Amino acid sequence: MSKRDHLIWIDAQEVAAADGSTFEVENPATGEVAFEVAHGKTADIDRAVAAARRAADEGPWPQMHPRERGPILRRAAELLRARRSELADVEVRSTGRPMREMHQQVGRTADWLDFFASVAETHEDRVVPAIGNLLNYVRRVPVGVVGQITPWNHPLLITMKKVAPALAAGNTIVVKPSEVAPVAPIELGRLLNEAGVPPGVVNVVPGFGAEAGKALSEHRGIDKLDLTGGTETGRHIAAAGGRNLIPVQAELGGKAPVLVFEDVPIASAVAGATFATFVASGQSCIAGARLLVQRTRYEELLRALIDRVSSIRVGDPMDPDTQMGPLASKQQLARVMELVTSARDEGATILCGGDRLGGDIFDNGYFFAPTLIADVRQDMRIMREEVFGPVLTVQSFEDEDEAVELANDSDFGLGAAVWTNDLKRGHLVAQRIRSGSVWINDHHRVDPASPWGGFKDSGVGSENGVVAYNDYTIQQSILVNLDRGSFDWFAPEARDLRYS
Ligand code: NDP
Repeated sequence: MSKRDHLIWIDAQEVAAADGSTFEVENPATGEVAFEVAHGKTADIDRAVAAARRAADEGPWPQMHPRERGPILRRAAELLRARRSELADVEVRSTGRPMREMHQQVGRTADWLDFFASVAETHEDRVVPAIGNLLNYVRRVPVGVVGQITPWNHPLLITMKKVAPALAAGNTIVVKPSEVAPVAPIELGRLLNEAGVPPGVVNVVPGFGAEAGKALSEHRGIDKLDLTGGTETGRHIAAAGGRNLIPVQAELGGKAPVLVFEDVPIASAVAGATFATFVASGQSCIAGARLLVQRTRYEELLRALIDRVSSIRVGDPMDPDTQMGPLASKQQLARVMELVTSARDEGATILCGGDRLGGDIFDNGYFFAPTLIADVRQDMRIMREEVFGPVLTVQSFEDEDEAVELANDSDFGLGAAVWTNDLKRGHLVAQRIRSGSVWINDHHRVDPASPWGGFKDSGVGSENGVVAYNDYTIQQSILVNLDRGSFDWFAPEARDLRYS
């Protein structure tokens, strides 16, 4: 990577931080510095918001017909596909996630541009049935300047889930990516500009949450905030948005239950649970965190699961054979170790894993062994808090009622999975789970058309689908008087002139 790749992206220019400072992005697999990045602070957020405001007020992006914006987004999708390997490489070096995962994920990310191009191209305004001799049409217009704050676990995908609908709807944007993995989102800003998105429409300011993130969320020049991050960060952002009376969308933490009924073949259940939990080293908001198994198959499934989980190939994320990489940062490793230790101290049993991996290539990185924990109670920290690591707790249940009760016994409600071959049971159990997404015999499935959002402490609002585009617009009602007669409310003889 050349030096220019690591600067702040404002007004289609690469600029250094106002105070000239930089920070280092560490490769969590090796402990080496992967990138040096400009350290955006309040002054840089101010510059980016000013550029986005100019682009919103002076155009042309917000004023363009939605059918003119669509082809530009499609061009960006093509560019992204062409740079898939390069971007996947950046993602692997920033997050430690295996190349096998990131190559797939980066390729998929382009679909969001195509989908929202189609939504823009088929955008229709409405005429509403207002009473009287009136034509009342309702336009959807861009919200204005939007602030988007994104995490490190799926850096490009999550940024895209926000940028694509916001752009399609004609907004201008300031992105504050996580300081752990900011390079791919910066590259996205450049790529969109190359595809034809005008200067100032997408600005990306790498920096720290407590400073750049806070400055963005409190900025009076922002018309909407959109965060993906932890639940506590969500509370900060929502409070800041509340003070400025702007809409806040937030995709937050999760603690997904995976329910396995007795009619599922053990091999499918093991494959499903392993995939649910250990992709991204468990650092996914919808990672399977709590496995609930029907009692009749519990022991049998546990034995097979221990075998499979113990044999996951952990290693160098650049190696195409590696199935699981390190955790993304030292802080994340400390957090996982703390929660696993708390489980042990509170009386849980570690069935496999349970510790940092050492020796060989592991000493320099933040590798944690894939872990299974049994003998848990609902009041333990490991059951209440989001671990965000390769850790799965296992419990048994008697029947559907107990399974649903355990599944819903959480402050979170983002993702859940139900494994069964009984069609009716699959649907009926899924419908009783208080969770924004429920997969039946699947996990991690996400699509630009499929609404994505959390119940309870897992978030506010929804990503994906037409609703995400609509949420990046504001409705303007235009009322046209079609009455040929004259109207004078204060005329001396006037009585009951108007119906409404
Ligand atoms: P954080 O909440 O720590 O950070 C998210 C973003 O917010 C980062 O850019 C961060 O900056 C910034 N930030 C942190 N504090 C503030 C603040 N006070 N004001 C403004 N911005 C702030 O989450 P992580 O990056 O650690 O990501 C993991 C979390 O994200 C997990 O809880 C996970 O469940 C959730 N998540 C939710 C998803 C969903 O779709 N619901 C999807 C993926 C993840 P910095 O990194 O510099 O601190």
